[in-house]
Amino acid sequence: GTMLELRKMTKMLGDKLILRNITLTLEKGEILAVIGPNGAGKSTFFKCTVGLLQPTSGEILLDGKLIKKNSAQIKQRIGFLGHESFLYNNLSPLENLRFYGRLYKVKDLDRKANELLKEVGLYLFRDMPICSFSRGMLQRLAIARVLLPDPEILMLDEPHTGLDQEAVALLNQIIKNKRDSGTSILIISHDFEQVHALADRAALLKKGKIIATRPLGEDVSLAEMKRWYEAEVKSS
Ligand code: ADP
Ligand code: MG
Ligand code: MG
Repeated sequence: GTMLELRKMTKMLGDKLILRNITLTLEKGEILAVIGPNGAGKSTFFKCTVGLLQPTSGEILLDGKLIKKNSAQIKQRIGFLGHESFLYNNLSPLENLRFYGRLYKVKDLDRKANELLKEVGLYLFRDMPICSFSRGMLQRLAIARVLLPDPEILMLDEPHTGLDQEAVALLNQIIKNKRDSGTSILIISHDFEQVHALADRAALLKKGKIIATRPLGEDVSLAEMKRWYEAEVKSS
């Protein structure tokens, strides 16, 4: 079934139309990749969908129900990770998770926080202030934070950027585990290799429009995916 549905979403920034009638669905338990050239509007699309920006027009339906502006629904059910991590520099990983856990009224908070810190490999660092953490460590904590309220939908904007190989492998494993347990995941990326490794389907955004979508089954090679991308970008 459909988890999230966008209907004719548009966004104006200044006098520029950045998103043009975006209609797209995210199915339950799928990984959908949104790809496209730099400046296509991917991050604007991300912000409009998660509620960081207000779309100019259009509708968002969650589980078939229209989402109202700034509703708490979104915060509880859609976990998102964009360019801003929303972490507190002067707090430790455990304190950061406690802070958000209280905000989202997470039950059994300390047990869950410690479990997640183990899962992302930060358990040994749980009481250290994060101001000295590397980009990879911060991203691990950002992921733990996003997973804490058990979101049904995960939205990720370029989550692999700046990560070392080990952190990339961990992130991909977490994404796949979540998908396998029924979470719907939308990942924005310009990294074809990661998209190919992860996604069940791709949607191609160019100049604010979805110009094509296609399934990315096991039978689709990385080279074939790239050829499709290049051909669609050229011909539209
Ligand atoms: P992508 O993530 O695909 O690289 P963005 O969503 O960041 O694309 O940007 C899409 C377009 O919107 C770009 O042309 C960019 O210059 C423009 N843009 C982004 N932010 C603003 C803004 N605050 N005001 C005007 N234009 C903007
Ligand atoms: Mg960009
Ligand atoms: Mg972007």
